[in-house]
Amino acid sequence: MSDLMEMLKRRGFLWSSFEIYGGSAGFFDYGPLGAMMKRNLEELWRYYFVIKEGMYEIDSPTIGLEDVFVASGHVKEFVDVLIECSKCGAVYRADHYIEERAKISVDPVPEEIQKALNEHAVTCECGGTFSHPVEFNLMFKTAIGPGSRKTGYLRPETAQGMFVNFPRLLKFFRNKLPFGVVQIGRAYRNEISPRQGVIRLREFNQAEAEVFVHPAEKKHPGFDSIRDEKLLLVTKFDEEITLTAGEAVEKGIIAHEMLGYFIVLTKQFLVNAGVDEERLRFRQHRDDERAHYATDCWDAEAKTSYGWIEIVGIADRTDYDLKKHMEHSQKDLTIFIQYEKPMKVRRKKIIPKMNIIGPQFKDKVREIVKALENYEFNGKVSINIGGEKITLSEDMYEIKEVEEEITGERIIPHVIEPSFGIDRIFYTILEHSFDEDEVDGEKRNVLHLPGYVAPIQVGVLPLLSKKELMDVAKDINTNLRINGILAEIDESGSIGRRYRRFDEIGTPFCVTVDYDTLRNNTVTIRERDTTRQIRVPVDDLVVDLKELLSLKPEKAFEELGEIVR
Ligand code: AMP
Repeated sequence: MSDLMEMLKRRGFLWSSFEIYGGSAGFFDYGPLGAMMKRNLEELWRYYFVIKEGMYEIDSPTIGLEDVFVASGHVKEFVDVLIECSKCGAVYRADHYIEERAKISVDPVPEEIQKALNEHAVTCECGGTFSHPVEFNLMFKTAIGPGSRKTGYLRPETAQGMFVNFPRLLKFFRNKLPFGVVQIGRAYRNEISPRQGVIRLREFNQAEAEVFVHPAEKKHPGFDSIRDEKLLLVTKFDEEITLTAGEAVEKGIIAHEMLGYFIVLTKQFLVNAGVDEERLRFRQHRDDERAHYATDCWDAEAKTSYGWIEIVGIADRTDYDLKKHMEHSQKDLTIFIQYEKPMKVRRKKIIPKMNIIGPQFKDKVREIVKALENYEFNGKVSINIGGEKITLSEDMYEIKEVEEEITGERIIPHVIEPSFGIDRIFYTILEHSFDEDEVDGEKRNVLHLPGYVAPIQVGVLPLLSKKELMDVAKDINTNLRINGILAEIDESGSIGRRYRRFDEIGTPFCVTVDYDTLRNNTVTIRERDTTRQIRVPVDDLVVDLKELLSLKPEKAFEELGEIVR
């Protein structure tokens, strides 16, 4: 893929960051064309998740309070194991290094790593031996405000921003489930030894959706419309199988319709963005690989020159995150679900003996009484008042069986999360659309990018750099741009060379202004992939090009004008 990387650097898609200072692994800049294409890709994602699915986007800080990441478990558990060579000092992520050198997979915990190092006699590339494996937290730590009194972390995922806003979001969505919230933005992970270009970055871009659902209603109203979509699956038992989404859910391979729906939506987005369907599969996490709280988890994987890489993770995170934030923040993150009809239930009610608890708990008594009102008796009475755990002994209360009419229940929603790595998708699209072919006996580099993803959508070329042709080309270019089409004029070099320059960056159409344009106000449009050309009136250009660049064009290229080449 060195040809592709060379082109991406030369043409301004991707640059290693801080080049003039010698660079730093795990950081990449999007150059002018890369930034434009990345934005188009994110817009396409918004089209699928915000416009089509009706989710709402929020934008929260990239720095998070320590409390947030203590609650989410990241402070304690977001670690990889590193090994350091005692001879040359090189540092590696242990599980990846052992996998590469000994061709075995190993659990990323220090004891297992040490065992694998010994059993397979894994040494450093320099021949040196490794020190004891240690855990390394991947979050970047920072201090909020002067005096370093408050610790903050750069967020390792955008998701927590959605979870901690849950009470506000719930109100925004008028206390009704299900609802979906998305966020597109930066995430930071201090990866131990990133060596795979934009595949493993220390600062990267995520597009995440958190769909809050009723735990017992993991269905999606759109499932029937996608149930026949075929999916290449690799199950948790490592079996490769092609099934429709409907079959996979019916057989219990995919846990439920909601997950099935988002797997298909992910596929549709990826394929329309330019990922090759033949090099795309969905791999289920094995039981020992899945996060302990998740019930089912699938990765969209793409085959690239780096092997099969995870580009999207789609997980049922259950109520784990909200539960943790509820515990740590002491705020109510539940939702009241009203039944269609009230229900009569018998339950054990705790009646406090005021003469005993009054003198003992004094100013806390009112809060204790309130907390006992709906307390579910489970053998003991233990409540949380203002962060303090209070346990009542048996002499402090009576238990009474009562019949109550209840109109609904409080639940903690479950969360289905499709999490997209924009940089990995960006790179996969480039690899899958990169091609070297021959046109009129000459070699060309071409990116077969969809028009709505390409950084420059239309090249405008005066046949010769003569003033009378340039003037018309400039007018056309301006008109396309003010109508929202990313056009660019190129007047230097032979027309063939200019076509090839646009082919190389994936520009799907070129408009050529020639002497016939001056006579009859028509131009040619050339299609990148087939190099066919049609002749159309200048006045139709905006409408025709918008049609050709749309996600689902209703007319084919040859229906828009007479083929002239
Ligand atoms: P995760 O939360 O680890 O499942 O990550 C969600 C998505 O973010 C993955 O599917 C990747 O596409 C992407 N991702 C995770 N880590 C990195 C990284 N270090 N560099 C670039 N993309 C990443």
